[in-house]
Amino acid sequence: MESERPYDALIIGAGIGGLSAGICLLLLGQRVAVVEKNVLPGGLMRGYRRAGMDCPVGVHYFGAFGEGEPLRRICDYLGLSDGLAAERMGRDSPIDRYHFDEFTFDLPAGIDAFAAALRQAFPAEGQAIGRITADLLSAAEMQNSFAFLSPQPPLFDAKLYAPLSAYLSGMDCSPGLRSVLGVAARWMGMQERDCPAFYHHFALSSYLLSAWRLAGAGADLAEAFVARVEALGGEMICGDAVAQISAAEGAVTGVRLASGRVLSAARIVAAIHPKQVIAMLPAGLVKPRHARLVAELAETESLFALNAAVDAAAHPALPHNVFRLRTDREGTITDGVFSQMRRAEKGKNLLVLITKSPYREWQRWERSATGSRGPDYAEEKARRAGRLLREAEGLFGSLADATLLDAYTPLTLRDWVGTPEGSPYGIMRSMRQLPALAALSRLAPAGLTFAGQSALSPGVLGTLLGSLHAVRQVIGPHRFAAEVFGPLAGSRKKRELR
Ligand SMILES: Cc1cc2nc3c(=O)[nH]c(=O)nc-3n(C[C@H](O)[C@H](O)[C@H](O)COP(=O)(O)OP(=O)(O)OC[C@H]3O[C@@H](n4cnc5c(N)ncnc54)[C@H](O)[C@@H]3O)c2cc1C
Repeated sequence: MESERPYDALIIGAGIGGLSAGICLLLLGQRVAVVEKNVLPGGLMRGYRRAGMDCPVGVHYFGAFGEGEPLRRICDYLGLSDGLAAERMGRDSPIDRYHFDEFTFDLPAGIDAFAAALRQAFPAEGQAIGRITADLLSAAEMQNSFAFLSPQPPLFDAKLYAPLSAYLSGMDCSPGLRSVLGVAARWMGMQERDCPAFYHHFALSSYLLSAWRLAGAGADLAEAFVARVEALGGEMICGDAVAQISAAEGAVTGVRLASGRVLSAARIVAAIHPKQVIAMLPAGLVKPRHARLVAELAETESLFALNAAVDAAAHPALPHNVFRLRTDREGTITDGVFSQMRRAEKGKNLLVLITKSPYREWQRWERSATGSRGPDYAEEKARRAGRLLREAEGLFGSLADATLLDAYTPLTLRDWVGTPEGSPYGIMRSMRQLPALAALSRLAPAGLTFAGQSALSPGVLGTLLGSLHAVRQVIGPHRFAAEVFGPLAGSRKKRELR
């Protein structure tokens, strides 16, 4: 098929990463198309409806969306803030409640409030808590100044390059304090021994700045991103996967879609999983050694999740998230369930339960596709869901009235967004893998840039930061500094981080 008029940039994938990178390039005057394999754009941010209830997938809560905070400033810059209707958490209740076997910890809003809650729970550990608080404040400050995107990227204190477990051991933290601080690593699908301390601190400090839930549905959020792309003159091509990236003389020239349609551009932003991208490149463009390096990168821990309708009178909506966590004797988290009891309609509330579930547990069905996996898969899902609901009764009381709306596995996530092994937060950004991840952009042929959650960091804020990082590579550092970083940094309000 013949190639159409060239675009300035083609974006592969219409998740948070692809859509936000597209919006930013459109704001900079580029001619952009976003290509999405699914008929419905949005990727993980898009929720779905079952029995009239909205079921979230990849946006349960997010941080730093308060006036003058990093996520809000990015959304303001991209013109997305009005589409991101959100409710603030932590005003009259904690943000999170962590239930351990021995104690319960309430995560409050605010870094100082967090430090005070830690001091109250672990009174003998004032010194370690003081040092951790100082590190959290400097992580918040770095985020607030968009230090990652600045012309002079920041240098961390050397101890923050250690895995979280070593960082906490270095401060002689008790098992209890370790277990409380381990939770934020789990949000990013990492164990404490894998998660770099600076990632942990960025994630935790952004939620402590302010934590939010969507006021509307995930589908509304996805549509708000798409509407912005279209309002800026971008083209959305949905229901047609990119099958191949074409290249000539070491540089990308465009893509071929599954339908056979050919699109040309000298710039491609791949906002999908990097392992998929390597497989799309012409043979010989990436050295086999490099391709193997990417193929062998470990993924973040995968998940099993369910959404259930419960009687609202028996199970009132909770303004905070609830975690049931188990640890070993050292305070390392071995198991956990994240839950939300959300307001719904018609006398019902929505119970969300998410727990880790390695891909290998579902591997026997890996050759089948969503919707056609057969009765044994459905039985296994029902069995797991039943077990998860029974365990949740320890927190919520009898759930005999619960109606299971849906449960999803690593295979569901794999099929929906195309991540290998249903990786929920992309490639694991562990200490061990950081050098290989840093080398990713150097492996790519000229004109190809990675965005999406594997590029810089996962989550709503992490993925948006990754998009801005990708835009810098597309337009060059000087133009980026003047037209993106300048306005973003300038939008900073004098604001108390504590
Ligand atoms: C269960 C779960 C809960 C989560 N909860 C939270 C949370 O509460 N807060 C938070 O901040 N983060 C959360 N996250 C993480 C967050 O959802 C992700 O980091 C973010 O949505 C990733 O966006 P993305 O654009 O990188 O990827 P995706 O959303 O995966 O988008 C990639 C898109 O590319 C498309 N695609 C794939 N292959 C092709 C192809 N060949 N051609 C064209 N298109 C293609 C996919 O269909 C998809 O639409 C959660 C994730 C999961 C899985």
